[in-house]
Amino acid sequence: MTEIKLVFDEPVQRKKAPKHLADLAPADRKAWATELGFPGYRANQVATHYFSHLAHDPNTWTDIPADSRQALADALTPSLIKLVRTVTCDNGMTRKDLWKLHDGVLVESVLMRYTDRTTVCISSQAGCGMNCPFCATGQAGLTRNLSAGEITEQIVAAARTCANGELPGGPTRLSNIVFMGMGEPLANYNAVARTLRNITDENPNGLGISARSVTVSTVGLVNGIEKLMAEDLNVTLAISLHTPDDELRDSLVPINSRYKVREVLAAADDYEKKTGRRYSIEYALIRDINDQAWRADLLGRLLKNRNAHVNLIPLNPTPGSKWTASRHEDELEFVRVLESYGVPTTVRDTRGREIDGACGQLAAAELAKAD
Ligand code: SF4
Repeated sequence: MTEIKLVFDEPVQRKKAPKHLADLAPADRKAWATELGFPGYRANQVATHYFSHLAHDPNTWTDIPADSRQALADALTPSLIKLVRTVTCDNGMTRKDLWKLHDGVLVESVLMRYTDRTTVCISSQAGCGMNCPFCATGQAGLTRNLSAGEITEQIVAAARTCANGELPGGPTRLSNIVFMGMGEPLANYNAVARTLRNITDENPNGLGISARSVTVSTVGLVNGIEKLMAEDLNVTLAISLHTPDDELRDSLVPINSRYKVREVLAAADDYEKKTGRRYSIEYALIRDINDQAWRADLLGRLLKNRNAHVNLIPLNPTPGSKWTASRHEDELEFVRVLESYGVPTTVRDTRGREIDGACGQLAAAELAKAD
């Protein structure tokens, strides 16, 4: 009898992403360059071109001898993300990029220009293992963690797009970074922590962007929040709560079976006390699922004495999904009830809706095309 092998049961063996300067702490970059046979000080020069000048093309690295520029670029800053497709909307002010990684994996980032800031939303994992049933990325499962280099490359690419004046309105500075693309950032903790340093470290060690302009969004991995608190980074924390009651949250955000609502909020409170940063509660409003006035009331009671802000997100329905956005009147009532408790509440604008804006939708569409 022939044995039938279930290949889908085997763990996918993936080659690690090529090592990149952005994977290492500044103190280790010099030693690594030396190991590769370059003078140690070249690491600092390359970091200056990478983080301070956003200079992609080694031909412009004129402080480095012409015959070693390409070799240094190949060794220290190999290109880790390749642009597959860009889709724009909002008159070009929103731009979604689909990137292919070295092993063919696809991830997305979204760049949004507003009057007072330009924000990039980046992916920290390919896919996501958190399995939230209303989310396109969650439905596809986790493919793999991204390296710090792969996450940082999305940010540096966005900073270049801004600096080169590729968005309408002319050259600008990338001002804000949100970890709200594909993946659960705190489930890829070390790479995300390294990336946060790459963002906030002063030039030339990093991009020199203020920690206040960086938001890490989590479904509430309490151990990750505790680790982040110990980093002394003071980035803003966003908790994807989506409902105030454990009963519904157990199914809406399955990790809730491990970390209950009160435990997650207590960790967020500790984070707020340590950093002085108000945290945000992300709440995707889903019609007839979590948008009832009594749930707004429960949420208001939970948050009224906390230094938290609620960001309501009209759900962006994914094709073929039964989950859909709330009725406008229910959304208004939800806001009214929260505000009656004095809880600061905003409804997130729905930038990117025309371009498959929910996390994972562009990658899912691309994969479907390839099938
Ligand atoms: S909503 Fe966020 S945490 Fe949940 S599956 Fe989607 S990407 Fe993962």
